[in-house]
Amino acid sequence: MTALSAHSAPDAPAPAKTSLLGLTRAQLGDALRTLDLPEREVRMRVNQLWNWIYFHGVRDFDAMLNVSKVLRGRLAEKFTLARPEVVSEQVSTDGTRKWLIRMPPVDAKDKGAEIECVYIPESDRGTLCVSSQVGCTLTCTFCHTGTQKLVRNLTTQEIVSQLVVAREKLGDFPGLTPPDDGIVPTGEGVRAVSNIVFMGMGEPLYNLDNVCDALAIMSDGDGLSLSKRRITVSTSGVVPQIGELGERSGAMLAISLHAVRDDLRDKLVPLNKKYDIAELLQACRDYPGASNARRITFEYVMLKGVNDSDADARELVRLLKGIPAKINLIPFNPWPGAPYECSDWARIEKFSDIVFNAGYASPVRTPRGRDILAACGQLKSETEKLRARARLAAD
Ligand code: SAH
Ligand code: SF4
Repeated sequence: MTALSAHSAPDAPAPAKTSLLGLTRAQLGDALRTLDLPEREVRMRVNQLWNWIYFHGVRDFDAMLNVSKVLRGRLAEKFTLARPEVVSEQVSTDGTRKWLIRMPPVDAKDKGAEIECVYIPESDRGTLCVSSQVGCTLTCTFCHTGTQKLVRNLTTQEIVSQLVVAREKLGDFPGLTPPDDGIVPTGEGVRAVSNIVFMGMGEPLYNLDNVCDALAIMSDGDGLSLSKRRITVSTSGVVPQIGELGERSGAMLAISLHAVRDDLRDKLVPLNKKYDIAELLQACRDYPGASNARRITFEYVMLKGVNDSDADARELVRLLKGIPAKINLIPFNPWPGAPYECSDWARIEKFSDIVFNAGYASPVRTPRGRDILAACGQLKSETEKLRARARLAAD
C-alpha cells in the first residue's frame, strides 16, 4: 500500500445527477440557471432542449446538434436524460403491451416505486393507460389497487416518463422503428400513442399539481404534442378538485360512477360518503368545457347481482339527463379474493340495450390483454404474485 493511498480519503459517492426528462419548461429553466447561463440565453436553450427531449426523444446530450459542444459537455456533467428502467415487457396476442417500470428512488427512504403501464392498440388509435400514484389511499371494494399498502404520489417526471418510455418502446420518436406486428398503428402522421387515460393506479385528483404539470408537458405542441381532447383523467369523485382539473388542464373527464344509489355507492366507492352522487353530478354539470362535442365519460363496472339490473340501467339514464355524457360499461376484472363476480354477458347486453335506447352510445369496454392481466384494477397484482412465487421457490 502506498503512502498516498493510505492517507487519501475514500472516494465520496458522486452526487446522483438529475434527469431532465419530465421537467416542465420552468423547471428546465431553473436547471439551466444552475449553469450560470445569462438570462437571455436561458429561454432559447429551454426551447432547444424541449424540442430535443420531447419532440425527438433523444437520450444523449451529444445528439443536440444546435447546442454548442461546450454547453453539451457542461449539461452532461450535471444532468442526464435517463429514463426509468423497464423491468419487464409483456405483449398480448391482441397487441396489448404491459410494461413494469421501476422509478429511481425519490429520497433516501424510497426504495424505488414500481408501476405498470398498459398500451392498447386499436385500428384508429393507440391508448396508453398511465398511473398517477403508487397504490391508492381510497378503498373501492372491487379494485385491487385499493388493497395495496404502499402509497405515494408520482412526481411529474414519473408521470411523463411513462409516455416517453412507451413511445420509445413503440418506436414512436423520429428515427426509431415501430414494431412490425400489423397491430400498432403506424404510418405518415400516425401516432402509436394517440390517447392517454389516467386509469392506471391511483386517484389523479389527489395528485392534482403533478397531474396538471404532466398534462401540460404531454400536450405541448412543440414536444410530445398530444391533443388535450385525447387525454382523459378518471376520478372516483373528488368533487372539490373536479372544476380545478378542468380549469387548469382542459383534460377530458371520466367519472367512476358504478352505482346509481348512494347506499350502494357508499359501499363500492367509499369516497361517496364524503361526496355523494348529487354533489358529484353537479360538479359534472359545472365542468369547464363539457359539451356535446366534449362529453364526460361515466364508467360503470358490471358486478353480478349488485348493480346490473334493468332498474339500475334506467336510473342511470335518468340521473345523467342534461349532462353531456358517454357511458362506458366495464366488465368486472376479477382478482384473487375479490368479493364480486362479473355480470353475465347476456345481462351486460340487456343493460347496454337500455342505455343505448335512451340515446347513449354505450360501448362495453372489451377486455383487452386478458392473457397478460393488463386490465384496470389489477395492475401489478400478477407481478406481485409471480414474485411471491419466486420467493417461495427460493426458500
Ligand atoms: N382512481 C381513479 C382512476 C384509476 S381506476 C378512478 O377510480 O377513477 C380506473 C378505472 O378502473 C375506474 O373506473 C375503476 O373504477 C376501474 N376499476 C378498478 N378496478 C376494476 C376492476 N377490478 N374491474 C374493472 N374495472 C375496475
Ligand atoms: Fe383508487 Fe380508483 Fe381503485 Fe378506487 S378504483 S381504489 S379510486 S384506483
